[in-house]
Amino acid sequence: MTVRRRTKIIATLGPATNTPEVIDAIIEAGVDVVRLNFSHGDPKEHVALAETVRNRARAYGRQVGVLADMQGPKIRIAKFSAGKVFLEEGAQFVLDADLDSDIGDIDQIGIDYKQLPHDVKRGDTLLLDDGRVVLWVDQVKEQRITCRVVVGGYLSNNKGINRQGGGLSADALTPKDKADIITAAEMQADYVAISFPRSAEDINYARQLLRDAGGQGGIIAKIERAEALDVLDEIILASDAVMVARGDLGVEIGDAALPPVQKKIITRARQLNRAVITATQMMESMITNAIPTRAEVFDVANAVLDGTDAVMLSGETAVGKYPVAVIEAVDRICLETEQQREIRVSRHRMDSHFERMDEAIAMGAMYLANHLNVKVIAALTESGTTPLWMSRISSGIPIFALTPHVATRRKVTLFRGVYPISFTINHDSHASLNKDIVDELQRCGVVRDGDMVIITKGDLEERDSTNTLKLVRVGDMVAPENT
Ligand code: PEP
Repeated sequence: MTVRRRTKIIATLGPATNTPEVIDAIIEAGVDVVRLNFSHGDPKEHVALAETVRNRARAYGRQVGVLADMQGPKIRIAKFSAGKVFLEEGAQFVLDADLDSDIGDIDQIGIDYKQLPHDVKRGDTLLLDDGRVVLWVDQVKEQRITCRVVVGGYLSNNKGINRQGGGLSADALTPKDKADIITAAEMQADYVAISFPRSAEDINYARQLLRDAGGQGGIIAKIERAEALDVLDEIILASDAVMVARGDLGVEIGDAALPPVQKKIITRARQLNRAVITATQMMESMITNAIPTRAEVFDVANAVLDGTDAVMLSGETAVGKYPVAVIEAVDRICLETEQQREIRVSRHRMDSHFERMDEAIAMGAMYLANHLNVKVIAALTESGTTPLWMSRISSGIPIFALTPHVATRRKVTLFRGVYPISFTINHDSHASLNKDIVDELQRCGVVRDGDMVIITKGDLEERDSTNTLKLVRVGDMVAPENT
């Protein structure tokens, strides 16, 4: 096993990546989690792709997590009879909820979300196609929203509509999402991402639907509505991870507001012991170019410095010309950035009290690791929670999650600095168990004689609760009296 990069890479699969050869190549390039975007494609294709990724990862002796990303209530215009139109600045343009879905023209277009005329009022600004076209609402009458074009341009079929400042009232889980959650449960997705949640209730409801369908994956809240920022802590606490979904969020709150909001979401997620993903346009120019712009290099590096667990690639790997090269580029940028001394130390939770014994052990392990010359941390874990807590503390020391459970091994693929190892407890003495752990780490090639290792684990009879921290030196006899 080679342990190099701490920050995890998520790659969205799509036409550019859905052949076995390219899947092999992105696994070799170091992808940690694949994202199946349910806004596109057939659910059956997603199930087959998840299966292929897992089979190929197994062939490489790797774990690759599967993230099923729900489409959510993206509000969209319907279709133009000519496919697209060019809207002139100053022209009048009508969004009509009663218009047939495929007869839009230069004057008017249908909308798939029939509630929209009730959600907007005169004076609102509507952003179409991620803000490329801007409309000012002049009048709302019954099902027709009459607008003035403020920023003109080409507008083509099914482009998204956002209101500046947020507040559109579509439910976070559409009937399609509910059906797709069942598919996500069937494929045993490790994570299910919920689009446009407004509250912790949206996340709790999604989790309930997933559990009812038999899915055990974690729930990711995509932070992409302005109003989600007002209840950020509640949403983070209800989720297993959050995503800074900069595409839609930037449209709602304005691009200039994004950088401080990204930093706030990452900091809060870490403080509240949740994982966090930074997403969208990280390497956008690599959809068509073989190398990133300098600004993109800085964007990835800054997300790493902010403390993100993972950086996500969307179009870059789904439809781009260089799906493997872009992963290699993100890999090298993360690696180089992680060498910065200041991101390896942490003052996180220096002043807090811990309520749980296992959490205190996790924090104690990180304090020791950062103040002693420890090579690796080995956390024996059932659920993956102990390594998650550990990885909230900045450190350059790898955390190995040793677990017999494949679902836990896949779950930790998202956590910064955490690496899964398959491990079964075969002993009823701590001394033998410690030796087995060290042997496994040696077998994986991550420690050698003389290296210091921190082991955390529970009682042998009660394996679900970590209460023990053990320091061992590789090569020393692990004697029973040391346990
Ligand atoms: C985003 O808006 O940044 C995002 C990740 O959402 P999606 O790509 O699913 O629209």
